[in-house]
Amino acid sequence: GNESAPSTPGKQVKNLINYTEEYSKRMKDEKQQISMVVIGHVDAGKSTMMGHLLFQKGVISKRLIHKYEQESRKQGKASFAYAWVLDETGEERARGVTMDVAHNYFETSNRIVTLMDAPGHRDFIPNMISGASQADVAVLVVGASTNEFEAGFGIGGQTREHALLVRSLGVVQLAVAVNKLDTVDWSKKRFDEIVEKLKQFLKQAGFRESDVTYVPVSGLLGENLAEQAKNATLCSWYKGPCLLEVIDRFRPPTRPVDYALRFCVNDVYRGQGSGIYISGKIESGGVCPGTKVVVMPASERGLVKGVEVGDERNRSNFALAGEHATLILTGIDAMKVTNGSVICDADNPIRAVTRLQARIVVFNIEVPITRGFPVELHYKAVSEPAVIRRIHSQLHKSTGEVIAKKPKVLLKGHNALVEVEVTRPVCLEEYAALKELGRFTLRYGGSTIAACVVMKLL
Ligand code: GDP
Repeated sequence: GNESAPSTPGKQVKNLINYTEEYSKRMKDEKQQISMVVIGHVDAGKSTMMGHLLFQKGVISKRLIHKYEQESRKQGKASFAYAWVLDETGEERARGVTMDVAHNYFETSNRIVTLMDAPGHRDFIPNMISGASQADVAVLVVGASTNEFEAGFGIGGQTREHALLVRSLGVVQLAVAVNKLDTVDWSKKRFDEIVEKLKQFLKQAGFRESDVTYVPVSGLLGENLAEQAKNATLCSWYKGPCLLEVIDRFRPPTRPVDYALRFCVNDVYRGQGSGIYISGKIESGGVCPGTKVVVMPASERGLVKGVEVGDERNRSNFALAGEHATLILTGIDAMKVTNGSVICDADNPIRAVTRLQARIVVFNIEVPITRGFPVELHYKAVSEPAVIRRIHSQLHKSTGEVIAKKPKVLLKGHNALVEVEVTRPVCLEEYAALKELGRFTLRYGGSTIAACVVMKLL
């Protein structure tokens, strides 16, 4: 526990610097960072499209693409060259499947985009969930080839599943890339047909029409990605923005600078002088030298002696929500700070709980989830053994209405309200209070089985 009188959860207490003011200055002066996940059915062309976009943006050199082209030709898969940009290991290349969430960065006129590529293969959905659980916005890729859209949109297809997943994790803005239009002679009719079907579905899934933009593209040919379309047929009927412009227009997430300090620890090391160096991400609030902090869940108190912002621009002596930084702390026992610790304002620390209520979306799991089901709770750098203590209700996938009270089992694809009990205390927040620390995933037998949102800390 912590000894100071409990204040309103998350409320900021007097600060040495007016973070809100500094934040609005930065919003005006600097490009905003946005995290993006790419979702869609297997083979819709996600990797090819993003690889090609990164190439057009100059993130990937001609030389590298050329090397990939040669390698892929050797293996008889010439068209995979762009997709390989996003693959990291030879094993993935040999199989021609993007396996893990690869992180890449690129800039648009107004945004710095952190890209989390999502593989679409059925078996690899778990990898995508962790990417999705950290995304601000999503690009949904659908293949426009004859029958391909229908396969991805039908039962067992991932188009619907992925869209519902990101929505349930709090993503509200979506770009839909209607891909492979080259295979249907850039048919406006085909594009309109796909848009019409998706519109109805996405509306039901809880996306506002004004937050969804549809873009006709060819990832393979690079049409309408980073630059305005050149293809004559496409230009004859499409006058809208290219994919990059749509991404550029995504509203940046507002960082919770007004909330109390929450700094998630990624790494701890001893520096040369006194003090302990702790690197991590500021999820909310701000921090500067002189800030009194408490490390949770250990309840270890200390003082911030220095702040180094995690990029070479080497700006000010403070760091704000959304930024990566290194803190130099004194007065604390280094043993009490580990990966997954949260450094908080001394007067308003995060709660450390062992029980919480969560809304979950169940993924690929062969065994049904029942009461007492053992899982691993996973978020940021934390991984803790846990059990499903109660299953309160099963919820409707898109409306969230209760469709069954106290169901005995949860199956693949179900949405539900459950109580999770963790063996050791974890530091999470209710999603409604701070979404940055309100999402987690559950794992079982080494794979991710559910994406979750914290409804209530118990
Ligand atoms: P992912 O599984 O969604 O990442 O899909 P990939 O990027 O691996 O692409 C799957 C297949 O579709 C590959 O053979 C690509 O060459 C092909 N492909 C991707 N985009 C296009 C496109 O715009 N036009 C055509 N004709 N083929 C494409």
